[in-house]
Amino acid sequence: MRPGWGVAFTDTGAGSLSVSLPAGSAALQHRAALRSTLGLAQDFQFMTQVHGREVLTVESQGEQPTADGLVSTTLPLAVMVADCLPVLMLAEGDDSILTAAVHAGRQGVAKGILPHAVERLRQRGAERVEVWIGPSICGACYEVPEEMRAELATTIPEAFSETSWGTPALNLRAAATAQLRGIGVTVHQVEACTLEEPTLYSHRASQQQGRPEGRFAGLIFPMQKVGAA
Ligand SMILES: [Zn+2]
Repeated sequence: MRPGWGVAFTDTGAGSLSVSLPAGSAALQHRAALRSTLGLAQDFQFMTQVHGREVLTVESQGEQPTADGLVSTTLPLAVMVADCLPVLMLAEGDDSILTAAVHAGRQGVAKGILPHAVERLRQRGAERVEVWIGPSICGACYEVPEEMRAELATTIPEAFSETSWGTPALNLRAAATAQLRGIGVTVHQVEACTLEEPTLYSHRASQQQGRPEGRFAGLIFPMQKVGAA
């Protein structure tokens, strides 16, 4: 990790960070607590994620833009997940450090949002791009219909998987890693499974096991402290 920059993934201890779920008002308090715990001078820039391919550059704090990827040289960035992949990127651009936070679920991986985000960084002079993939539902838990597995595995064979109970599944982490390594990116993994690990939020676990619905976050941020010049 480059000195002066932080990469982190939250868990249920930080509370749900989504303002659009029921009990979303608490999310604003959770976001403020996160910022203050990390001692940051600015709020995290979150986005309204829609399983698309849009990657936006943001340099000043504003309303939550609708996108699945954010690129910045100045703002702390956040991506919310609860089974999808939270993906954080860091690179040295032409005249500044570039960061990105990307939301990549099945649709995002299929649409190529990760190579697309890397391309955005390279357009701004980044040669070496480093990526952290955080906790997500694993290839032994992410059950999908046979046709859905076939559709993604046709283009990305690494996506092909089977659940621990023997039904068709997708391994999005392996698919994303293959996409990124294929274009020369260094990939680091935080390999917890959201469905199996109760200290993480999982959309499927909330539906199937009655665990609380919520979103945890991947965070990438400049570590300037409150009050620092
Ligand atoms: Zn799992």
